[in-house]
Amino acid sequence: MGNHSLTTGDARPFVVAVGEGEAARQLTVSDPETAFDTLVRILAESLPDVSGAWGLSAEWPEPISLVVRYRRGVVGETRRAAHIVVMRPGDWHGDTLSAWCGATIAITDLEFLTPGEGMPCIPCLRRAPLSNTPQQVRA
Ligand SMILES: [Zn+2]
Repeated sequence: MGNHSLTTGDARPFVVAVGEGEAARQLTVSDPETAFDTLVRILAESLPDVSGAWGLSAEWPEPISLVVRYRRGVVGETRRAAHIVVMRPGDWHGDTLSAWCGATIAITDLEFLTPGEGMPCIPCLRRAPLSNTPQQVRA
């Protein structure tokens, strides 16, 4: 469990929701790794027809950009670029995340990085509306 630069003190921007209606459970957690681990754990303890989702709380004031890449061994090293995924407040996610470049990655196959870590995915960098995106050399 690594430290995340996006965790700010006791903030718990991420929500895990399992089940529907009366039986629904919602938990708030501080980072995406914990959110997904929690979701997987609760679903494992639940009946097979119980569904779950996770995402950024609708109350959170702004979208959070996550940097993700495939875990070592899932794909070749050349495909382990660091993709940018935006989580918008109130959007629910299942077991995949979609990066700006169009890549869809199963959460079980990825690891979360600190922004700036890893080899950046250039299409993601070009498309993501990050204020601090480094300027790329024009091709
Ligand atoms: Zn990408």
